[in-house]
Amino acid sequence: MHLISAQELANGAKEQAGLIEGLTVTIDLIGELFTMRKFIAFCSTLVFTSMLFFGQSAFAADATTCELEESTLAFNIVYPEGCEIPENFKIVYLTFDDGPTKYTPKILEILAQHDVPATFFVVGNTEYTHYIRDIAENSHAIGLHCYNHKFEQIYSSKEAYFNDLKKIDDIVYDHTGYRSMIIRFPGGSSIKRGTNKWFMKQLSSEVRERGYQYFDWNCDSGDANGTSSASVALTKIKSMEKEVGDIVIVLMHDTKGITVEYLPAVIEHFKELGYTFSRLCPASPAVHHSW
Ligand code: ZN
Repeated sequence: MHLISAQELANGAKEQAGLIEGLTVTIDLIGELFTMRKFIAFCSTLVFTSMLFFGQSAFAADATTCELEESTLAFNIVYPEGCEIPENFKIVYLTFDDGPTKYTPKILEILAQHDVPATFFVVGNTEYTHYIRDIAENSHAIGLHCYNHKFEQIYSSKEAYFNDLKKIDDIVYDHTGYRSMIIRFPGGSSIKRGTNKWFMKQLSSEVRERGYQYFDWNCDSGDANGTSSASVALTKIKSMEKEVGDIVIVLMHDTKGITVEYLPAVIEHFKELGYTFSRLCPASPAVHHSW
């Protein structure tokens, strides 16, 4: 296992900063990197700090939101091959599902004000897909969520799932010029409504065989499950963070007004605890729910 040194992290940050000469250049390089065999090693070096400067992202809609199963903290963390997080290095990934929506520009503004990156798992069935490019231009990561957020349809068969995935993949490509290789399953990989654990196990394996990495979460704001106020969402996040440790993937949604309200406090909370903010890429440590 390769332990990343402080010098490598610094070098990675410098290299990464060189990539940010423009969105077009960045996107071209991302495309190349995803096809290079050494991408994993490259990303392993960069992921923990330099990804702060890196990005693409997109968003989802006003339409439907994740109706999640009861939140679970049963999860595994899958580390990229050849990479090990330095001891006591704390990293947080802010993730937003189901956008873009009318709230997306405000969330981008807040992230910019606090100078932190995030990851947006976008949907396609929305009138706000034009914000996908804005997310990318603000150097956030874009992940594929779904085109149509209807569990019974997309999980009706493998073919249905991958057809839906192709649709959102094409939309992201049209707006950014690159193919995202990170996924979040609607409802998470442990979802049972509209599907079952055996099907989800097969699907989880198959997406990885096709070169994707999928990301669940280990910290849930509850903003998609009827959490009624910003203070309640923040309390949930703080209580979960204590249980999950040094790698935190926070689930939020840019479909709710309260997310805009509590986001600044969430950012300040993790800053006070000494976490480094980063954006997800295929070589990031991945939270996978347990079945
Ligand atoms: Zn969702």
